[in-house]
Amino acid sequence: MTGYSMTIDGSAVLGGATFGVVNPATGEVFEQAPECSREQLDGAMESAHKAYRDWRSDEAARRRALHAAGDALFAAAGDLAPVLTSEQGKPLSDANMEAFGAGVWFKYFADLEVPREVIQDDDNAFVEVLRRPLGVVAAITPWNYPLILASWKIAPALLAGNTMVLKPSPYTPLATLKLGELLAGVLPPGVLNVVSGGDDLGQWMTSHPTPRKISFTGSVATGKHVAASAAPDLKRVTLELGGNDPAILLDDVDPAAIASKLFWGAFQNNGQVCSAIKRVYVPEALYDDVVEALAEQARAVKVGDGTVEGNQLGPINNRPQFERVSELVADALAGGARAVTGGKAVDGPGYFYEPTILAGSTDGTRIVDEEQFGPALPVIAYRDLDDALERANATHFGLSGSVWSADGDRAAEVATRLECGTAWANTHLALQPNQPFGGSKWSGIGVENGPWGYYGFTELQVLHRAKQ
Ligand code: NAD
Repeated sequence: MTGYSMTIDGSAVLGGATFGVVNPATGEVFEQAPECSREQLDGAMESAHKAYRDWRSDEAARRRALHAAGDALFAAAGDLAPVLTSEQGKPLSDANMEAFGAGVWFKYFADLEVPREVIQDDDNAFVEVLRRPLGVVAAITPWNYPLILASWKIAPALLAGNTMVLKPSPYTPLATLKLGELLAGVLPPGVLNVVSGGDDLGQWMTSHPTPRKISFTGSVATGKHVAASAAPDLKRVTLELGGNDPAILLDDVDPAAIASKLFWGAFQNNGQVCSAIKRVYVPEALYDDVVEALAEQARAVKVGDGTVEGNQLGPINNRPQFERVSELVADALAGGARAVTGGKAVDGPGYFYEPTILAGSTDGTRIVDEEQFGPALPVIAYRDLDDALERANATHFGLSGSVWSADGDRAAEVATRLECGTAWANTHLALQPNQPFGGSKWSGIGVENGPWGYYGFTELQVLHRAKQ
């Protein structure tokens, strides 16, 4: 039995079967989630398709509904947070902020004004570029930020007049199912359907004939499958994929002054952030001081069950990811890196891992070249800035990156030489609703947020009216 339902056509729907959801703080199954059948997915698609006709026709009603959704999220953040903590692991305060942040995204899009684009209006012709909704959107999210990443999709897609079928990760379905129930109170039936199931369900969605657009957030490997699955009937895709963000420190930084920002740029959400700092490049002369400043931060962090007040980092979300981080750290250590802090799991149940600072790391080792997506940070020495930039850019990833300097202008100038979607100067992970976010190279196609994210849920139509 499960206390969680899917939302299909505005109604709470149980699956024919269920699957277990693990609390990463214990490693034990604590809840069941509905397993969506193919027939139920067809029903969700059909419902979204039917709802599209009316939903697309009344912009004022859509804006009112998005405002109401934002209010509902603000009011329910305190109820959603414990659910999110139990399935995801993050501390309750972070879970609260995530739920509240999702509300902020709804409010932003509810008020987003998109200017009319009349490109000619004279004696010959009136020409306007219109933005039209696409139809049903299939949205698929990962397990690191289930609520906020869902809001990045739902709010702009619905504002544009689309309807949606949303699937969260099988590791974290519960808070999103609750979100579906919550929003069923403010949206017409069928406008937002939330279904849960395994990776197969994602594949059924991307190959389903109904959606005209797929909005996907997840790993590069899955993103490529999604793109291939969308190709036969030319569905539009937005892909927000993995990253291997470099942070490059310039020779004038004060290690103590930036250590906290740098550390949290890497370890927020236990390092499980697509655009977290995943490797740090440091001038040789500053290397030991930077390593020690980061290690000091790592030693001071409280790791433990997210429901216990005061804990700053929870467990890694799931066993495969825990094993992957363990494996990449072991590989780094075998290759000659030194764990100045951490380097191993925390004894006891659950997927807890000690915050790990790896000195003596080099390009060409797995933890530097691949996306670790966990609480382990390699620090790499460099002698020549151009060489460091070249190494930072020598990757298929291109999500974001940052440059740090006592001189903000210099940091900004060097940051623009990073090949990535977001270049930060003296900060990292600064994200906001009006700022487009997306990756270059294998880190993605398209962007989310701001008007640019909204446009991704539309297609152009040119209205050209002759006047003679
Ligand atoms: P994942 O790719 O394994 O899974 C993501 C989602 O895709 C899940 O809902 C999963 O069930 C579904 N899925 C799996 N196989 C599928 C298939 N063949 N077809 C359709 N759907 C399928 O990713 P994950 O492990 O859940 O998340 C971690 C990854 O997500 C990391 O690489 C991280 O960098 C990335 N990420 C990117 C962003 C961004 O905005 N760029 C944000 C957060 C996470």
